[in-house]
Amino acid sequence: MIAVAKPKILVIEDEPDLLEVIQYNLDREGHKVIACRNGEQGLSRIRTDNPDLVILDLMLPGMDGVEVCRQVKSDPVTRAIPIIMVTAKSEESDIVLGLGIGADDYIAKPFSPRELVARVKVVLRRGPLREQSGGGERVVRGPLTIDLGRHEARLDQQLISLTPTEMRLLHFLASHPGRVFTRAHLLSRVIGEDAIVTDRNIDVHVRALRQKLGDSQTYIETVRGVGYRFSDASQ
Ligand code: CA
Repeated sequence: MIAVAKPKILVIEDEPDLLEVIQYNLDREGHKVIACRNGEQGLSRIRTDNPDLVILDLMLPGMDGVEVCRQVKSDPVTRAIPIIMVTAKSEESDIVLGLGIGADDYIAKPFSPRELVARVKVVLRRGPLREQSGGGERVVRGPLTIDLGRHEARLDQQLISLTPTEMRLLHFLASHPGRVFTRAHLLSRVIGEDAIVTDRNIDVHVRALRQKLGDSQTYIETVRGVGYRFSDASQ
């Protein structure tokens, strides 16, 4: 019989009480938890233990969460390990920064254990962010079908007319349901790094896209102060 390995989750959190609560709840869900109290220790355990997921507090003494995330995501060996960033609720700029340097998701303090367990489940299920390979990819979500290779989008079987940018935007978002992307990230993915545009430019494309989607526009959710995501409910 083959034993199924428990998902290994590394938690970097300097507040002992919070660390204990997180550890207890993940342990109860059947995860193997590695607890670290600071960034330096966390980073070295990420490299030696190769966890399936990292829960990373942003505010840490010494090396902070941003630096840990930056190092994990810039190393080809550890880059694919998903990171959930833990932030204070008021720190919208930190959320944007965290997602901008490659964190896979975030959870704002204070959070309930149930909320944390749910986020962990979602991130483990979808695995690391896979880069899109060229054209030809077909994504089906609820009544929507987006075929990038054929430059075709359909809503309830009916063709809808999208601009190339709207097509790429919809395809990219729908390829990663439940994942929040910053405006800057979306701009670089669907318009290109060289375009002389501002972050708000993406709002114009989203607005136009939503109009064309009619009732299905609810799939594209605005995450206040952060960016956009394709609804998780479509899976
Ligand atoms: Ca902290």
